[in-house]
Amino acid sequence: MAITFGKTGVCTRPAERAVEGYSPRDGLAHGELDRVVYACEEHREEARTVWLAGLTAHALPRSATTTRTCGSFTDFTAPDDPAA
Ligand SMILES: [Zn+2]
Repeated sequence: MAITFGKTGVCTRPAERAVEGYSPRDGLAHGELDRVVYACEEHREEARTVWLAGLTAHALPRSATTTRTCGSFTDFTAPDDPAA
């Protein structure tokens, strides 16, 4: 399974939040982890609703993600989507 790293948005603040995005599998809404996006406090709603592109969002507790930049993401799906 390919793993890609990227950056979306123009914000350069430190990310304080991580939001996991799941696609359904075997009847479960949280079936497969497809993407994790990182966001500052200001952009975490955008991370949930836009950056996860319709995946089921699961916000992680606030944690030590400050080495990440807002808008950075890790994608665990194959990089065959030109919009990614
Ligand atoms: Zn931000």
